[in-house]
Amino acid sequence: MKKKLLVLCSVLMIAAMAVALTACGGKSGGGDTPAPAGSGADSGEAKTLSMATNAAFPPYEYMEGNEYAGIDIEIAKAIADYMGAELVINDVEFGSIIGGVQSGKYDMGIAGMTVTEERLQSVNFSDTYSTGVQVIIVKEGSTIASVKDLADAKIGVQMDTTGDIYCCGDFGDDHVTEFKTGADAVQALITDKVDCVVIDNEPAKSFVAANEGLKILDTAYTVEDYAICIAKDNEDLLNTVNAALKDLKASGKLDEIISKYIN
Ligand code: GLN
Repeated sequence: MKKKLLVLCSVLMIAAMAVALTACGGKSGGGDTPAPAGSGADSGEAKTLSMATNAAFPPYEYMEGNEYAGIDIEIAKAIADYMGAELVINDVEFGSIIGGVQSGKYDMGIAGMTVTEERLQSVNFSDTYSTGVQVIIVKEGSTIASVKDLADAKIGVQMDTTGDIYCCGDFGDDHVTEFKTGADAVQALITDKVDCVVIDNEPAKSFVAANEGLKILDTAYTVEDYAICIAKDNEDLLNTVNAALKDLKASGKLDEIISKYIN
């Protein structure tokens, strides 16, 4: 049944992508008109590498006091070091990252971002550096026990994420409530405004650990690859980032960074 739903999801995703995007997954996408390219990478002055992220997605990116922390932040720093560049971090809404990268406002987007066919129409993606799983968070004692139960549920999601897009495609916009951050969606679950939250597994674990009375269902919704998005006309940076990732993989540094945050 779960498999069937996922197949249905893929088929519906293609047919209904435009609908899903305008009705459900694209509300904030067009609102942020990025300024012209501001990268210093080719300016001849101190080299900078600017990244866009949404620092509300632990353990990939989050705030520790006033400091950015997390897997993506450390990977981005390591890539900047590899390039001899200074990393500039921009904390923006998740849904504005791709547009900002596309226009050259940011050199790259690194935000636990899943590679999807639809996103590949707008940006290039680096090689994969991590894997994510969309999972379902419910309150303990919930009657929701599997993916098929979502058909009758009020689902909370983070706006513009794959969880949002898949749930809209599989269950319809009426079942889906979008929130600016995953934390907001979880808060809505705690206060019974939604029945469950569909979100990536690692942030899900952080949210469940931080809030009593929640649990993650054993059934996974989808498995996804995370990668760094880069403008289509910036092949040089794509090659450099892939070379840096290869180096980080070979040296064991990537594993070291990931295992610092995920055990
Ligand atoms: N992996 C999900 C996506 O790419 C969520 C990412 C995020 O919220 N930072 O849509």
